[in-house]
Amino acid sequence: MSDNCIFCKIVRDEIPSNKVHEDEDFFVFHDIRPIARVHYLVIPKRHVESLAHFDAADSDLVGRMMLLGARLAPQQGLSDGFRTMINTGKGGGQEVFHVHAHIFGGGEVLPKV
Ligand code: 5GP
Ligand code: ZN
Repeated sequence: MSDNCIFCKIVRDEIPSNKVHEDEDFFVFHDIRPIARVHYLVIPKRHVESLAHFDAADSDLVGRMMLLGARLAPQQGLSDGFRTMINTGKGGGQEVFHVHAHIFGGGEVLPKV
């Protein structure tokens, strides 16, 4: 937990969010500024700054974070597919320094990257 991290505050329900899923290890909620018809964020409840801050002992947690994002997609209206994105560090465009996987799609076909 980090006192002044907005995503830790969302986990603690100190900042309201549109929750998709919660379990012992993860919290999933809709992005406040969606870039597609459906756009949610999967975060570990444990405060980890970025993907680059996980270590080898976290492999299982990282794997389960990605699988959870995929598993929730059909019920969120993304049966057709979705995009997964993790921005890492300032150079990777990360703005909130609590690691999160973006899952988004729906509506128009996403541009190729
Ligand atoms: P990043 O740029 O760090 O990969 O993504 C941060 C994401 O968090 C952005 O897409 C932004 O819209 C979202 N975000 C920032 N603050 C809040 C908030 O208070 N609530 C929710 N639901 N999303 C937020
Ligand atoms: Zn945090």
